[in-house]
Amino acid sequence: MATYIVLLGPPGVGKGTQSGMLARKIGLVHISSGDLFRENIKNQTELGKLAKSFIDKGELVPDDVTIAMIRERISKPDCKNGAILDGFPRTPVQADALKKTLAEFSGQVKAVYITAEEAVLIERTSGRWLCRKQGHVYHEKFNLPKQAGVCDVDGSELYQRDDDKKETVANRIRVYFEQTLPLVEHYRQIGGLIEINGAQDVEQVTKDLLSALKR
Ligand SMILES: [Zn+2]
Repeated sequence: MATYIVLLGPPGVGKGTQSGMLARKIGLVHISSGDLFRENIKNQTELGKLAKSFIDKGELVPDDVTIAMIRERISKPDCKNGAILDGFPRTPVQADALKKTLAEFSGQVKAVYITAEEAVLIERTSGRWLCRKQGHVYHEKFNLPKQAGVCDVDGSELYQRDDDKKETVANRIRVYFEQTLPLVEHYRQIGGLIEINGAQDVEQVTKDLLSALKR
């Protein structure tokens, strides 16, 4: 039976790594709603043109258009074992609509929530420093330069991009939790939520994920 996984997890929890692993180990195709939009628009499919007409007006693409794209993608042969959905659904209403559509494919829908405490996520996703001359990469915890603020290789000054600053990262993580909480609660209530401790090392997260999916 095909398995459709709604993959949820804040920035820094290793969602990308884990979905790559699921693709290799159980043959699930990774479907990102953003990529689906881009492909459909690029190939000028009917759904792509429709989506573009909303995007051009600065409006959100309606759920039924997105779901139609997902439906079309899932019906391709490479999705016979199932798929990992990334970026959709984002709300309980979208989750219900998706569930109705996936019912046609007689597969099971599972929501997997890989999560960790904010402090862990911030530590993982911030603290990168780059050198001005050649972009050599350092990290304030895991890969310190010999002399603070100076590149070991070429002696140039180290700087931090906004995206790598603690405040920026913390804000991005908070926004994610706020926006995703209703969806997590929705899946928890209907009994379809698998929670994985993403603070563990990558291999352990993978093990937990695979054993939870077998159940
Ligand atoms: Zn350098």
